[in-house]
This record gives sequence, structure tokens and C-alpha cells, in this order.
Amino acid sequence: MTRRVVNFYAGPAGLPLPALERTRDELLDFAGTGMSVMEISHRSKEYEAVHDEAIALVRELMGLPANYKVLLLQGGAHLAFGMVPLNLLRHGRKADYITTGNWAERAFAEAKLVAGDRVREAGSTKKEKFARLPKAAELKFDPEAAFVHFTSNNTVEGTQWQQFPATGKPYVCDMSSDIMWRKFPVEQFGLIYAGAQKNLGPSGVTVVIVRDDFLAMCNAEGLPSYLGYPIHAEKNSLYNTPPCLGIYILRNVLAYNKSIGGLAAIEANNRRKGALLYGCIDRHAGFYKPFVTEKADRSFMNVDFFLPTKDLIDLFVKEAKKNGMIGLKGYRDVGGIRASIYNAVSVADVETLVAFMEGFVKRNG
Ligand SMILES: *Cc1c(COP(=O)(O)O)cnc(C)c1O
Repeated sequence: MTRRVVNFYAGPAGLPLPALERTRDELLDFAGTGMSVMEISHRSKEYEAVHDEAIALVRELMGLPANYKVLLLQGGAHLAFGMVPLNLLRHGRKADYITTGNWAERAFAEAKLVAGDRVREAGSTKKEKFARLPKAAELKFDPEAAFVHFTSNNTVEGTQWQQFPATGKPYVCDMSSDIMWRKFPVEQFGLIYAGAQKNLGPSGVTVVIVRDDFLAMCNAEGLPSYLGYPIHAEKNSLYNTPPCLGIYILRNVLAYNKSIGGLAAIEANNRRKGALLYGCIDRHAGFYKPFVTEKADRSFMNVDFFLPTKDLIDLFVKEAKKNGMIGLKGYRDVGGIRASIYNAVSVADVETLVAFMEGFVKRNG
């Protein structure tokens, strides 16, 4: 039997086993074509069916209204950091950015490269190492801003907006690390982007969800053609050769997610996982020290914590690995332990980690 580890990597991250098994089973003969999905024209009806199903599943699982388009692009969140301002901010428009972590700062910096002083920081918790999210009173918005950009889940620091910030403006949001972990009212969002490799599939696919009025605001004039959003919307993300294999695997992941009860079932699992892991941390508050200072800002996707000494952190990672758990070393800027518990991490996986953590305190606490 193939050995599978318990995978807590922050990204690329584990995928649901049934979605991988389907990929394996269909690899050499996809949809009765006698070819793999990597070997067939992206204009073939067999590929187009997968492409359309992937888009339809995003719509269905998230409950997207008819006035939103789903695009399947490339370049990850990084290219979106640039494409958003290139499309929306080159022609005098202004925007506010809330910087709540490593990735939010990157998004802000890239927007400044394009639009300079017309992008402002509406608030930041950098002075506190991004260990919490800003309070409403700490956010100051420019009345002339066309949108407010924020990062729904801060992958590095382990904070997550449980209630989206009150801005009075449409949102543009980097949802790379928590897209489709639960349903939410999408109407306030002008544009959402997410690299697939945390919650949706392999790296190489970027999901972009854009409201029709935001699409109409995009001005791609003078841009290299791939960088404009409207052309991708017009061509159903088949303007150029899409990442066919990645989109196919994304389809398999979403079809599996639907089969287990959609986002309602996934959210229930994620809440259970969070309760188990934070429960353990809080029970041993003198030993496991959470990085995030406000309980209300805790992420259900990335859980960062410290142990009393650097040696204990190293020992924890080493012993966890011996016990089949991988990917627990924290991001270099934060240190400590980071357990990423995206959708594909099961309740049983988190129970395994918590049992290990209980034993580790007994032995070393
Ligand atoms: C992982 C991550 C990124 C970086 O994604 P790339 O695909 O490498 O560009 C950006 N933002 C968030 C919130 C992330 O979690």
C-alpha cells in the first residue's frame, strides 16, 4: 500500500485522497479518449467539458450570483497582485489596502508599483507583528477609494477575518488560503482571487471571481493581452492554453467537495478541527503559546504557536515527523510551529496531531 503522511504544509498543501485517486485512475485514458488530460487539445470537447464543470462547481459551491464571472488563470496570487491594479487603477482611480500580514503587504507593494500614491494603507498591525487584525476604529478609509483590498486569511501569521471589515466600499480580496472554507455573502465583493494550491488543487491555477461592474471598470488598453481580465472573461478562460491538468484536478477536488455535502459540511469539519487544536493549545497555555493575540482573530486554516524554547520547537517538528506528520515548521518570519489545516486535512488528522501534542507536553512540560 502507498504510504500517505498527515500533511500540515502551508502550500502547496494536501489534497483529498479521493480526488487524487480519481486523477490516477483516469491518467492514461481520460474520458475514453485514450490520452491523458495533459495530451489532449484544450479545444477538444472532452477538455472543455472539464473546464466548464470546474467553473460551474466554483459557482455552485460558493453560491455565486449571475452577475459574477469565474476565471481560471495562471501566475498565482503574485500575478493577481499586479493584474488588479493594472486593470483597475491605472487611470486615476484610488484604492485602500488593509495590510494584515506578509501577503497583504506584498499586494500593497505591487499596487504601489502601478498606482503610486493613489493606493493608501487604510490600516496595519505591523507594529504588533501582525499578531492580530485591526479593529474598526483603527481603519481609516479614503472616501474616493474605488475599493478596499484585504486578505481574508493571513497564511503566515494565522489570523482570519471572521467578520469582514466594515468599509462601506466594494472589496477586492486575496482569498488564496481560505477560499471555499465556508459560504459567505459574496455581494460586497468586486473581485476575489486565489491561488489554488491551499484549498482547491495544485499550484498553477488561479481562480478569479469578478463582478460584472468591476469587469466593466477594467481597462486593459496598452497592456500585454494576457494581463487584461476582460479578454479572459470574454473567452471563458480559453484565450490561451489554460493549465489543463491543474484545472482538471481542481475539478476533481470540487466534485469531491460537493459529494461530501459542499461548503456546509466543510465548514462544520473546519470548525471542529479548529476547536480541537485551539482547545489543546488553550489547555496547555503555559506550554503552547499562540502567536495570535486575539482569540476572535484566530484562523481556522493556519494555526501558529510557540513552545518554551527553540530546542523544544525543533524536537517537536522532529518527533512529529517520526510519527508521520509533516510540514509543521513555522514560516521563517514568524518561527515556531505552524499547522495548516486546510479543507483536505481531516478531523482525524487533527486528532492525531492533538494526541501527539498532549503526549509531548507530558514528556517535556
Ligand atoms: C500562498 C499565498 C500567496 C502566494 O501565492 P502564489 O501563488 O505563490 O503567488 C498570496 N497570498 C496568500 C494569502 C497566500 O496564502
